[in-house]
Amino acid sequence: MNPIICPKCKSIVPSGSKFCPQCGNPLVDISNQSLSLGKQIGIYSVCLLAPPFGLIYTFKYAGKANPQLRNIGIAALILTGFSIAFTAWSAIGTYHYMQNLLQTYVGTSY
Ligand SMILES: [Zn+2]
Repeated sequence: MNPIICPKCKSIVPSGSKFCPQCGNPLVDISNQSLSLGKQIGIYSVCLLAPPFGLIYTFKYAGKANPQLRNIGIAALILTGFSIAFTAWSAIGTYHYMQNLLQTYVGTSY
C-alpha cells in the first residue's frame, strides 16, 4: 500500500484515506478504484473477442460512482454490442457467400 498524492493540493496522504486531511478533497474514487491501462485493454479485448463475457464488466462497472469505471462499463457494453453485430453480420455474409457458391456449381438448373 503506497501513500497517495492528493490531486488537488499535491500533499501526501496515507493510503486508505477517503479525504485529503489538508484540503478535504475526496480521494477514494481516484486512488483505490481506478484501473491500469493494461487492465482496460484486457477488458476491451474480452468484449471484442468473447462478446457475452464482456457484459460481465458492464454489470460490474456501469453502476459505480467513479466516472472512469462507469465509462469503462459503458464502453464494454458498446464494444460487446458492436462485436455481436459484427459476428451476426459476418455470419449472414458467409451464408450468402455459401449460397452463391452453391448456385454456381449446382445452380445452372435455377
Ligand atoms: Zn489535498
